[in-house]
Amino acid sequence: MKTGSGDRAPVIHFPGMNFILHDPRLHDHLSGDHLPQDHLSEDCVEQARIQAIPARIGAAARAVSRLAAERAEALDRDGGFPAEDVAHAHAAGLLTAPLPVALGGAGLGAPAMAPVLAGLLAQIGRGSLALGRLYEGHVNALALVLRYAEPAVAERLARDVRAGHLFGVWNTQPQTGGLVLENAGAPDAAEGAWTLGGVKSFASGAGSVTRPLVTARRPDGRQQMLVASLEPGTRADLSSWRAQGMRASTSGILDFSGLRVGAGDFVGGPDDYFREPHFSGGAWRFAAVQLGGIEAVFDALRDHLRESGRGGDPHQAARLGEAAIAVETARLFVDRAARLAGDPEAEPARVIAYVNLTRLAVERAGLDVLERAQRSVGLAGFLSPHPLERLARDLATYLRQPGPDRALTSAAAHVLAETCSADELWRDPPAAVRPAVPAGSSDEAP
Ligand SMILES: Cc1cc2nc3c(=O)[nH]c(=O)nc-3n(C[C@H](O)[C@H](O)[C@H](O)COP(=O)(O)OP(=O)(O)OC[C@H]3O[C@@H](n4cnc5c(N)ncnc54)[C@H](O)[C@@H]3O)c2cc1C
Repeated sequence: MKTGSGDRAPVIHFPGMNFILHDPRLHDHLSGDHLPQDHLSEDCVEQARIQAIPARIGAAARAVSRLAAERAEALDRDGGFPAEDVAHAHAAGLLTAPLPVALGGAGLGAPAMAPVLAGLLAQIGRGSLALGRLYEGHVNALALVLRYAEPAVAERLARDVRAGHLFGVWNTQPQTGGLVLENAGAPDAAEGAWTLGGVKSFASGAGSVTRPLVTARRPDGRQQMLVASLEPGTRADLSSWRAQGMRASTSGILDFSGLRVGAGDFVGGPDDYFREPHFSGGAWRFAAVQLGGIEAVFDALRDHLRESGRGGDPHQAARLGEAAIAVETARLFVDRAARLAGDPEAEPARVIAYVNLTRLAVERAGLDVLERAQRSVGLAGFLSPHPLERLARDLATYLRQPGPDRALTSAAAHVLAETCSADELWRDPPAAVRPAVPAGSSDEAP
């Protein structure tokens, strides 16, 4: 381990994780230097370091989130991409964290780490929803690469992550002019055998994300995932992103026309992007970022009530209490959804249904907290520079995610088809696969 210094804070370099620490007292604990290394084998020390990963990720996330919150106001403008925050996240080891330890990461993408990842995404979202959106896209892209890419492709892309490239997932496109893969006429599927045509829309980080994972329609009509290599500042058109909130996510249009790609850029096979339960089940990650945005609005409400001395009023107190219920509801749903999605034994249909309910529960919680915060603070909360003003715009915008009605009704269809009682709906193992009850015994609970 080496210790260096950045422009604002000391940087501690771990194999696979770097942390920017603002509190020197944390240094020994996070570095593992407090471990009695003389008395432990190298394996034990390595094991202890791995066990300390969640705490180290938490510390890095808090540092990145805090600085992102400080910068967010200034970035609330068209084209205000959070470049410093992304650089900070990279220096803190958060860009590589989802990679396996063998590829230079912290193993955060492993299913068992899902609750840790949920906490990290919420923490980043609490500081800056725009940064949270970008980081979630990066994490999602790496998850897809690790799940579907050939090992050699994954290793090459992992090198790009370690070099500081920001990834993203760009699937959304306009109804006409979306992304297509055209055969460039090369004899085989080697480098540059294909040409891309068309655009992606609502592409967060357009012009700054240099390794977007995109879906492109193949000549046979199926969708192919691939990771494109882009130069910063090229091919992006941010003029359509004149959004009420989330301005700093720079979710513009990216024109890929004429870009040559080869089979070495492909991730998985046709239509793998939509394979379940990962496609729908992965939505818990954006819900985790939304949770962070909800918590930020809640904190702005509470700060206002404290500072204005109005918190003791029974109406204000009731709204704050209701907002606290909403925040905790969202948190419990996100945590449970992350655990279920990370459980290899969980029934896929149940994972999808629960994550769909989580999307709606978190959206409802966000809308409830927004309403209570705006009602309680009043007009001041709509005027810049009151903190609630931007936080509310960012959250209201980021709560808009694809197909919410369908998410709710398909979860309802799952619930309708289940024959177990309500208390068993989301429990594992489901009643249907429980060990058979021996003959002569009662199957009723004690
Ligand atoms: C800040 C931000 C960043 C984003 N970044 C990215 C990104 O990096 N990559 C990316 O791929 N996408 C991105 N997106 C786009 C996102 O994934 C969704 O495509 C987008 O948010 C859809 O929102 P919507 O409200 O228009 O959804 P819609 O699905 O259009 O829903 C709007 C309403 O219509 C209903 N509805 C949906 N389909 C139908 C139908 N067929 N018939 C009738 N009603 C229907 C819905 O239930 C809902 O009530 C981003 C979005 C935001 C807000």
